[in-house]
Amino acid sequence: LMQLYLPLNFLGSIYSSLRTSLVDLEQMFRLMEEAPDVKDRPDAIDLPARLDEAPAAAIRFEHVRFGYRPDREILHDVSFSVPAGGRVAIVGPTGAGKSTISRLLFRFYDVTSGRVVIDGHDVRDYHQAALRAAIGVVPQDTVLFNDTIGYNIAYGRLGASQDEIEHAARLAQIHDFIASLPDGYATRVGERGLKLSGGEKQRVAIARTILKNPRILILDEATSALDTHTEQEIQVALRTVSAERTTVIIAHRLSTVIDADEILVMGDGVIKERGTHRSLLARDGLYAGMWAAQAEERGEDAGHAAVGA
Ligand code: ATP
Repeated sequence: LMQLYLPLNFLGSIYSSLRTSLVDLEQMFRLMEEAPDVKDRPDAIDLPARLDEAPAAAIRFEHVRFGYRPDREILHDVSFSVPAGGRVAIVGPTGAGKSTISRLLFRFYDVTSGRVVIDGHDVRDYHQAALRAAIGVVPQDTVLFNDTIGYNIAYGRLGASQDEIEHAARLAQIHDFIASLPDGYATRVGERGLKLSGGEKQRVAIARTILKNPRILILDEATSALDTHTEQEIQVALRTVSAERTTVIIAHRLSTVIDADEILVMGDGVIKERGTHRSLLARDGLYAGMWAAQAEERGEDAGHAAVGA
Protein backbone atom coordinates (compact mmCIF):
# COMPACT_ATOMS: atom_id res chain seq x y z
CA LEU A 1 0.00 0.00 0.00
CA MET A 2 2.87 2.31 0.87
CA GLN A 3 4.16 1.95 -2.70
CA LEU A 4 0.87 3.32 -3.94
CA TYR A 5 0.55 5.90 -1.22
CA LEU A 6 3.85 7.67 -1.79
CA PRO A 7 3.31 8.59 -5.46
CA LEU A 8 -0.27 9.60 -4.70
CA ASN A 9 0.87 11.72 -1.83
CA PHE A 10 3.44 13.30 -4.12
CA LEU A 11 0.81 14.04 -6.76
CA GLY A 12 -1.25 15.60 -3.99
CA SER A 13 1.58 17.89 -3.07
CA ILE A 14 2.05 18.91 -6.71
CA TYR A 15 -1.65 19.60 -6.89
CA SER A 16 -1.47 21.77 -3.80
CA SER A 17 1.55 23.68 -5.10
CA LEU A 18 -0.30 24.20 -8.35
CA ARG A 19 -3.20 25.59 -6.39
CA THR A 20 -1.12 27.87 -4.26
CA SER A 21 1.49 29.08 -6.65
CA LEU A 22 0.10 28.99 -10.17
CA VAL A 23 3.01 27.05 -11.53
CA ASP A 24 2.54 26.40 -15.21
CA LEU A 25 2.11 22.96 -16.70
CA GLU A 26 5.65 22.74 -17.91
CA GLN A 27 6.78 23.56 -14.41
CA MET A 28 4.51 20.82 -13.09
CA PHE A 29 6.08 18.19 -15.31
CA ARG A 30 9.50 19.41 -14.28
CA LEU A 31 8.41 19.14 -10.66
CA MET A 32 7.16 15.62 -11.19
CA GLU A 33 10.54 14.67 -12.55
CA GLU A 34 12.73 16.57 -10.19
CA ALA A 35 11.00 17.66 -7.01
CA PRO A 36 11.41 14.37 -5.09
CA ASP A 37 14.83 15.69 -4.12
CA VAL A 38 13.23 18.61 -2.32
CA LYS A 39 11.77 17.46 0.98
CA ASP A 40 10.44 19.07 4.14
CA ARG A 41 12.72 18.70 7.13
CA PRO A 42 11.14 16.75 9.99
CA ASP A 43 11.25 19.91 12.12
CA ALA A 44 10.17 22.28 9.29
CA ILE A 45 8.69 25.60 10.40
CA ASP A 46 5.84 27.76 9.16
CA LEU A 47 5.95 31.10 7.43
CA PRO A 48 3.03 33.54 7.53
CA ALA A 49 1.63 33.63 4.01
CA ARG A 50 -0.54 36.69 3.68
CA LEU A 51 0.11 40.37 3.98
CA ASP A 52 -2.78 40.66 6.42
CA GLU A 53 -1.05 38.14 8.71
CA ALA A 54 2.43 39.64 8.77
CA PRO A 55 4.37 42.48 7.13
CA ALA A 56 6.15 41.92 3.81
CA ALA A 57 9.03 39.45 3.94
CA ALA A 58 12.76 40.12 3.48
CA ILE A 59 14.67 38.03 0.93
CA ARG A 60 18.39 37.32 0.70
CA PHE A 61 20.45 35.24 -1.72
CA GLU A 62 23.82 34.50 -0.10
CA HIS A 63 26.56 33.25 -2.44
CA VAL A 64 24.13 30.99 -4.27
CA ARG A 65 25.50 28.39 -6.64
CA PHE A 66 23.13 26.15 -8.56
CA GLY A 67 22.89 23.89 -11.61
CA TYR A 68 20.00 21.76 -12.87
CA ARG A 69 22.61 19.08 -13.50
CA PRO A 70 25.84 18.54 -11.57
CA ASP A 71 27.95 19.03 -14.69
CA ARG A 72 26.54 22.45 -15.62
CA GLU A 73 26.43 25.23 -13.07
CA ILE A 74 23.87 27.91 -14.00
CA LEU A 75 24.23 30.41 -11.14
CA HIS A 76 27.74 31.20 -9.96
CA ASP A 77 27.94 32.91 -6.58
CA VAL A 78 24.85 35.11 -6.77
CA SER A 79 24.19 37.43 -3.80
CA PHE A 80 21.54 40.11 -3.39
CA SER A 81 18.86 41.14 -0.95
CA VAL A 82 15.39 42.60 -1.16
CA PRO A 83 14.35 44.41 2.01
CA ALA A 84 10.80 43.90 3.30
CA GLY A 85 8.49 45.74 0.92
CA GLY A 86 11.32 46.51 -1.54
CA ARG A 87 11.48 45.98 -5.31
CA VAL A 88 14.32 44.33 -7.13
CA ALA A 89 14.31 43.88 -10.89
CA ILE A 90 16.34 41.25 -12.71
CA VAL A 91 17.22 41.94 -16.32
CA GLY A 92 19.55 40.31 -18.81
CA PRO A 93 19.59 38.22 -21.98
CA THR A 94 17.71 34.98 -22.44
CA GLY A 95 19.29 32.07 -20.58
CA ALA A 96 21.08 34.37 -18.13
CA GLY A 97 19.45 32.65 -15.13
CA LYS A 98 16.66 35.08 -14.25
CA SER A 99 13.85 32.53 -13.95
CA THR A 100 16.17 30.15 -12.14
CA ILE A 101 16.37 32.70 -9.33
CA SER A 102 12.60 32.68 -8.94
CA ARG A 103 12.51 28.86 -8.96
CA LEU A 104 15.05 28.79 -6.13
CA LEU A 105 12.99 31.28 -4.15
CA PHE A 106 10.09 28.84 -4.41
CA ARG A 107 12.46 26.02 -3.57
CA PHE A 108 11.53 24.01 -6.62
CA TYR A 109 15.19 23.04 -6.42
CA ASP A 110 17.82 23.18 -3.68
CA VAL A 111 20.95 25.26 -4.12
CA THR A 112 24.31 23.54 -4.52
CA SER A 113 25.91 25.92 -2.06
CA GLY A 114 25.10 29.20 -0.39
CA ARG A 115 21.64 30.01 0.99
CA VAL A 116 18.30 31.46 0.00
CA VAL A 117 16.96 33.22 3.07
CA ILE A 118 13.46 34.53 3.76
CA ASP A 119 12.78 36.39 7.00
CA GLY A 120 16.09 35.23 8.44
CA HIS A 121 15.56 31.53 7.76
CA ASP A 122 16.94 29.32 5.02
CA VAL A 123 14.06 28.35 2.69
CA ARG A 124 14.99 24.72 3.48
CA ASP A 125 13.77 25.35 7.06
CA TYR A 126 10.19 26.06 5.97
CA HIS A 127 7.34 23.74 5.11
CA GLN A 128 7.21 23.84 1.33
CA ALA A 129 3.46 24.44 1.39
CA ALA A 130 3.93 27.47 3.69
CA LEU A 131 6.72 28.84 1.51
CA ARG A 132 4.67 28.55 -1.66
CA ALA A 133 1.63 30.08 -0.03
CA ALA A 134 3.71 33.13 0.90
CA ILE A 135 4.83 33.76 -2.69
CA GLY A 136 2.51 34.93 -5.45
CA VAL A 137 3.43 34.85 -9.11
CA VAL A 138 2.11 36.82 -12.00
CA PRO A 139 3.48 34.54 -14.70
CA GLN A 140 4.33 35.36 -18.30
CA ASP A 141 1.51 33.23 -19.52
CA THR A 142 -1.40 32.51 -17.24
CA VAL A 143 -3.17 29.18 -17.38
CA LEU A 144 -6.94 29.69 -17.31
CA PHE A 145 -9.38 26.99 -16.30
CA ASN A 146 -12.37 26.04 -18.41
CA ASP A 147 -14.64 27.72 -15.93
CA THR A 148 -16.12 31.16 -15.35
CA ILE A 149 -13.96 34.25 -15.29
CA GLY A 150 -15.15 34.78 -11.70
CA TYR A 151 -13.85 31.35 -10.69
CA ASN A 152 -10.58 32.04 -12.43
CA ILE A 153 -10.08 35.08 -10.19
CA ALA A 154 -11.48 33.43 -7.05
CA TYR A 155 -8.88 30.70 -7.48
CA GLY A 156 -6.42 33.04 -5.79
CA ARG A 157 -8.38 32.43 -2.60
CA LEU A 158 -11.16 29.90 -2.93
CA GLY A 159 -13.99 30.98 -0.71
CA ALA A 160 -13.62 34.70 -1.46
CA SER A 161 -16.93 36.55 -1.67
CA GLN A 162 -18.27 38.08 -4.90
CA ASP A 163 -17.54 41.54 -3.45
CA GLU A 164 -13.93 40.58 -2.78
CA ILE A 165 -13.59 39.13 -6.29
CA GLU A 166 -14.94 42.33 -7.84
CA HIS A 167 -12.75 44.51 -5.66
CA ALA A 168 -9.67 42.56 -6.80
CA ALA A 169 -10.82 42.80 -10.42
CA ARG A 170 -11.20 46.57 -10.11
CA LEU A 171 -7.72 46.95 -8.67
CA ALA A 172 -6.41 44.76 -11.49
CA GLN A 173 -8.09 47.00 -14.10
CA ILE A 174 -10.18 44.12 -15.46
CA HIS A 175 -13.58 44.76 -13.85
CA ASP A 176 -14.93 47.04 -16.59
CA PHE A 177 -14.00 44.51 -19.24
CA ILE A 178 -15.74 41.70 -17.32
CA ALA A 179 -18.81 43.84 -16.62
CA SER A 180 -19.12 44.49 -20.37
CA LEU A 181 -19.42 40.75 -21.16
CA PRO A 182 -22.99 39.46 -21.64
CA ASP A 183 -22.69 37.03 -18.72
CA GLY A 184 -20.33 39.20 -16.64
CA TYR A 185 -18.40 37.22 -14.03
CA ALA A 186 -20.31 34.06 -15.05
CA THR A 187 -18.78 34.15 -18.56
CA ARG A 188 -16.94 30.95 -19.30
CA VAL A 189 -13.33 31.28 -20.43
CA GLY A 190 -10.54 28.99 -21.55
CA GLU A 191 -10.41 26.48 -24.36
CA ARG A 192 -14.15 25.91 -24.33
CA GLY A 193 -15.17 29.51 -23.72
CA LEU A 194 -14.15 33.08 -24.36
CA LYS A 195 -10.56 33.50 -25.47
CA LEU A 196 -8.80 36.26 -23.57
CA SER A 197 -5.91 38.29 -24.94
CA GLY A 198 -2.48 38.07 -23.31
CA GLY A 199 -3.07 41.39 -21.53
CA GLU A 200 -6.48 40.31 -20.22
CA LYS A 201 -5.12 37.01 -18.97
CA GLN A 202 -2.35 38.84 -17.20
CA ARG A 203 -4.87 41.08 -15.47
CA VAL A 204 -6.84 37.99 -14.38
CA ALA A 205 -3.58 36.70 -12.89
CA ILE A 206 -3.06 40.04 -11.12
CA ALA A 207 -6.61 39.93 -9.69
CA ARG A 208 -5.96 36.36 -8.47
CA THR A 209 -2.78 37.48 -6.79
CA ILE A 210 -4.48 40.48 -5.16
CA LEU A 211 -6.98 38.02 -3.64
CA LYS A 212 -4.21 35.65 -2.57
CA ASN A 213 -2.46 38.58 -0.88
CA PRO A 214 0.98 36.97 -0.59
CA ARG A 215 3.87 38.62 1.29
CA ILE A 216 6.21 38.09 -1.65
CA LEU A 217 5.49 38.71 -5.30
CA ILE A 218 7.28 37.51 -8.40
CA LEU A 219 6.38 39.31 -11.59
CA ASP A 220 7.50 37.44 -14.65
CA GLU A 221 6.97 40.03 -17.31
CA ALA A 222 5.65 38.88 -20.67
CA THR A 223 8.14 39.17 -23.51
CA SER A 224 5.46 39.88 -26.08
CA ALA A 225 4.87 43.53 -26.84
CA LEU A 226 1.50 44.92 -25.81
CA ASP A 227 -0.19 47.95 -27.30
CA THR A 228 0.42 51.18 -25.41
CA HIS A 229 -3.03 51.39 -23.82
CA THR A 230 -2.97 47.78 -22.57
CA GLU A 231 0.57 48.28 -21.38
CA GLN A 232 -0.48 51.31 -19.33
CA GLU A 233 -3.44 49.47 -17.78
CA ILE A 234 -1.18 46.58 -16.87
CA GLN A 235 1.38 48.92 -15.36
CA VAL A 236 -1.31 50.44 -13.12
CA ALA A 237 -2.46 46.95 -12.10
CA LEU A 238 1.09 45.78 -11.43
CA ARG A 239 1.80 48.80 -9.30
CA THR A 240 -1.29 48.07 -7.24
CA VAL A 241 -0.44 44.43 -6.68
CA SER A 242 3.21 45.09 -5.86
CA ALA A 243 2.67 48.05 -3.51
CA GLU A 244 3.77 47.08 0.04
CA ARG A 245 4.82 43.61 -1.08
CA THR A 246 8.41 42.46 -1.42
CA THR A 247 8.67 42.19 -5.19
CA VAL A 248 11.06 40.50 -7.59
CA ILE A 249 10.47 41.51 -11.20
CA ILE A 250 11.89 39.46 -14.03
CA ALA A 251 11.82 42.19 -16.61
CA HIS A 252 12.11 42.22 -20.36
CA ARG A 253 11.05 45.79 -20.92
CA LEU A 254 13.30 48.18 -19.06
CA SER A 255 10.56 50.79 -18.83
CA THR A 256 9.06 48.69 -16.01
CA VAL A 257 12.20 48.65 -13.86
CA ILE A 258 12.95 52.37 -13.66
CA ASP A 259 11.74 52.77 -10.09
CA ALA A 260 13.14 49.49 -8.72
CA ASP A 261 15.23 49.87 -5.54
CA GLU A 262 17.91 47.82 -7.23
CA ILE A 263 18.32 46.46 -10.74
CA LEU A 264 20.43 43.33 -11.18
CA VAL A 265 21.87 42.87 -14.66
CA MET A 266 22.40 39.12 -15.06
CA GLY A 267 24.61 37.53 -17.66
CA ASP A 268 26.11 34.03 -17.83
CA GLY A 269 24.87 33.19 -14.34
CA VAL A 270 26.50 36.12 -12.55
CA ILE A 271 25.36 39.61 -11.62
CA LYS A 272 27.33 41.76 -14.04
CA GLU A 273 26.05 45.15 -12.92
CA ARG A 274 23.79 46.34 -10.13
CA GLY A 275 22.31 49.62 -9.00
CA THR A 276 19.43 52.00 -9.56
CA HIS A 277 18.32 53.02 -13.02
CA ARG A 278 20.16 56.33 -12.70
CA SER A 279 23.39 54.90 -11.36
CA LEU A 280 23.43 52.21 -14.05
CA LEU A 281 22.87 54.76 -16.80
CA ALA A 282 25.68 56.88 -15.37
CA ARG A 283 27.95 53.83 -15.39
CA ASP A 284 27.45 53.62 -19.14
CA GLY A 285 27.91 49.85 -19.27
CA LEU A 286 25.66 46.91 -20.19
CA TYR A 287 22.47 48.37 -18.74
CA ALA A 288 22.99 51.73 -20.41
CA GLY A 289 23.50 49.87 -23.69
CA MET A 290 20.29 47.85 -23.22
CA TRP A 291 18.41 51.03 -22.35
CA ALA A 292 19.65 52.83 -25.44
CA ALA A 293 18.73 49.86 -27.65
CA GLN A 294 15.19 49.64 -26.21
CA ALA A 295 14.68 53.39 -26.40
CA GLU A 296 15.68 53.24 -30.04
CA GLU A 297 13.12 50.48 -30.62
CA ARG A 298 10.48 52.69 -29.06
CA GLY A 299 11.59 55.47 -31.34
CA GLU A 300 12.83 57.68 -28.49
CA ASP A 301 16.02 59.48 -27.89
CA ALA A 302 17.71 57.47 -25.11
CA GLY A 303 19.24 60.46 -23.39
CA HIS A 304 15.95 62.33 -23.32
CA ALA A 305 14.00 59.31 -22.01
CA ALA A 306 16.53 58.83 -19.22
CA VAL A 307 16.17 62.40 -18.02
CA GLY A 308 12.40 62.04 -18.17
CA ALA A 309 12.67 59.01 -15.89
P1 ATP B 1 14.58 33.89 -20.35
O1 ATP B 1 14.77 35.37 -20.39
O2 ATP B 1 14.66 33.27 -21.72
O3 ATP B 1 13.38 33.42 -19.59
P2 ATP B 1 16.33 33.25 -18.10
O4 ATP B 1 17.36 34.28 -17.86
O5 ATP B 1 15.12 33.27 -17.24
O6 ATP B 1 15.91 33.28 -19.64
P3 ATP B 1 16.70 30.59 -17.07
O7 ATP B 1 15.35 30.04 -17.42
O8 ATP B 1 16.95 30.90 -15.64
O9 ATP B 1 17.06 31.85 -17.98
O10 ATP B 1 17.75 29.53 -17.58
C1 ATP B 1 19.14 29.61 -17.30
C2 ATP B 1 19.83 28.42 -17.90
O11 ATP B 1 19.38 27.23 -17.29
C3 ATP B 1 19.57 28.24 -19.40
O12 ATP B 1 20.79 27.88 -20.00
C4 ATP B 1 18.59 27.11 -19.48
O13 ATP B 1 18.79 26.35 -20.63
C5 ATP B 1 18.91 26.30 -18.24
N1 ATP B 1 17.71 25.63 -17.71
C6 ATP B 1 16.56 26.22 -17.36
N2 ATP B 1 15.68 25.33 -16.87
C7 ATP B 1 16.29 24.11 -16.92
C8 ATP B 1 15.91 22.76 -16.55
N3 ATP B 1 14.74 22.49 -16.01
N4 ATP B 1 16.82 21.79 -16.77
C9 ATP B 1 18.04 22.06 -17.30
N5 ATP B 1 18.45 23.29 -17.65
C10 ATP B 1 17.61 24.30 -17.48
